[in-house]
Amino acid sequence: MKRTKEPLATILIIEDEKKISALIRKGLEEEKYAVDEAADGEKGEHHALQKQYDLIILDIMLPKKDGIQVLAALRKVENGTPVLMLTAKGTVEDRVKGLDTGADDYLVKPFAITELLARVRSLLRRKKGAERSATTLTIADLTLDLVARKVIRGGKVIDLTSKEFSLLEYFIRNKNKTLNRSTITEHIWNYNFDTGTNIIDVYINHLRTKIDGGFPDKLLHTIRGVGYVLKDH
Ligand code: CA
Repeated sequence: MKRTKEPLATILIIEDEKKISALIRKGLEEEKYAVDEAADGEKGEHHALQKQYDLIILDIMLPKKDGIQVLAALRKVENGTPVLMLTAKGTVEDRVKGLDTGADDYLVKPFAITELLARVRSLLRRKKGAERSATTLTIADLTLDLVARKVIRGGKVIDLTSKEFSLLEYFIRNKNKTLNRSTITEHIWNYNFDTGTNIIDVYINHLRTKIDGGFPDKLLHTIRGVGYVLKDH
């Protein structure tokens, strides 16, 4: 029975040697990756900027625009797609230039397809790891992990309720900015409490006890008559 599944990742091959490109494509497709090909530097750069690839396999010696120029153009516009460079044997300078320009890894021709696949897996894993680490927010020695929904301060895990967690996330995203009560309330509860209610103060006091209790440097401060600020200096 044939099942249609999402590809593991989408990969662009920029390589003018048809035989090599076809060999790489075959290897990648057998591993369930989706593959696009471009046979010169200009087309390759165009594809890379048009579509969000998980990885680019980029040959250095290419017609129209070489691999280094393509890579430089991508990095110049903050395109951070991982790039695996293919270099000819003996061209150490090319490899150095490639890495300096922002390539993530390289492979010297001729290579075994199994080695290429191993490099591809490793780069994709690294990319995933980087994406995960981008989901943490930090202030001073406190880290909030948005995926694991975990808060750690000074190596100690702090247990927060889900409302306290949202509150802390909002404070960290606005760190060093004074937030007034109604702004905080609206953001966390999406509606306005009757004026005069002190529920927000109760929540903030709970949060303050949990994140600042026992630590000499206090992060959460009351600005009398205005609101609150989470600050690291
Ligand atoms: Ca080539």
